[in-house]
Amino acid sequence: MTQNILIIGAGIIGSALAYRIGQSGCTVSLLDPSEVGGAASSASFGWINASYENPKPYYSLRRYAMDAWNRITPDLPNLPYNMNGTLYADYYGVSLDTLHAEHTPWGYPFEWVTHDQITILEPKLTKVPKHALYCEIEAQVIPDMAAKVFRQHAQNTTFIKTSATGLLTKGETIIGANTNDGPIYADITILAAGTHSQALAATAEIPVPLHTPAGLLIHTKPTTPLISHTILTDGLHMQQRADGTVTAGGDFGGGSINENPNLGSNELFSRLQEALDSNELEFSHHTLGIRPTPSDGMPIVGSPKNGLYVTVMHSGATLAPGIAELVAAEIETGHRDALLDTFHPDRFIS
Ligand SMILES: Cc1cc2nc3c(=O)[nH]c(=O)nc-3n(C[C@H](O)[C@H](O)[C@H](O)COP(=O)(O)OP(=O)(O)OC[C@H]3O[C@@H](n4cnc5c(N)ncnc54)[C@H](O)[C@@H]3O)c2cc1C
Repeated sequence: MTQNILIIGAGIIGSALAYRIGQSGCTVSLLDPSEVGGAASSASFGWINASYENPKPYYSLRRYAMDAWNRITPDLPNLPYNMNGTLYADYYGVSLDTLHAEHTPWGYPFEWVTHDQITILEPKLTKVPKHALYCEIEAQVIPDMAAKVFRQHAQNTTFIKTSATGLLTKGETIIGANTNDGPIYADITILAAGTHSQALAATAEIPVPLHTPAGLLIHTKPTTPLISHTILTDGLHMQQRADGTVTAGGDFGGGSINENPNLGSNELFSRLQEALDSNELEFSHHTLGIRPTPSDGMPIVGSPKNGLYVTVMHSGATLAPGIAELVAAEIETGHRDALLDTFHPDRFIS
């Protein structure tokens, strides 16, 4: 029997879910008051990696998701995805030796590069360390544009421009959501509303505890090609997108740089000018996103109640297509992949 699926939120997570679930023949309603891609997806750095804050199950999920990007791109050539690799010259106080030692036994392809190799990889870098780590399989995506591509190619999907105001319950089952335009009923409701998921889940007394740190990025005007990879260097991470703009940030999870966006932007732009040998850099603007970060740092993915799925996470730019594959398969077959074991929302029910 065809299942009716309601997805609340059309950021990169909800849009990737609509794309995958629509392929399985379900009828999908994708709900969002906005079309811009979400508080997180429209202001994200979009670095795809499996190297940060990594207990093994989280590493494995991220590694799976990195492969999912490569599985999905042949079908969606318009995705703003680029497997351009990452150069780790410095990592916000994380020792590169530790990073290498932790990840290479798991098969992660970190390789050491020498001073001379770094100058070949990134000739415009001003502070070239004696050695750095390089990972050729890490990538970049522009999450709000990717969300749009997922939506454009989502089969059996209706986009409904409205807000959910709460979950609808019948007995012990979630049967849809109330919206600003009336109730929408569904066999399965998926909560993919980023930072708003906590409040929506609370309407059915389901705990989805989140932190919501701000995330500041600066963007330059388009310039000639300056850097080829994602680069992590002293107090800065940066990348150059296909349109020539350079995007840079100063932390991965809320730090003092975000507190005053104007001062923070000036500081980040100074760091960028110091880091790159170029007279061409011109500041364009900053963005201040909000990171939907579960209170224990790990993704929340699974069904806490009959008829409901929760899909809330940081590192959603990395995880989106992998989560979409796994959740679509779980809905279709009833079988939950062991990769998701650690991430069930029930861990918050005392
Ligand atoms: C500055 C910054 C840098 C980041 N860098 C990276 C990175 O390098 N790599 C990485 O993997 N991740 C990164 N992230 C995290 C990543 O961007 C997020 O995990 C991801 O975008 C989350 O997507 P989402 O779809 O869950 O949320 P969102 O993009 O916030 O989308 C949620 C959607 O739900 C909608 N919504 C909200 N309430 C309702 C409602 N009541 N009814 C209907 N719709 C609703 C919103 O309008 C929105 O469109 C970064 C985030 C930030 C802010």
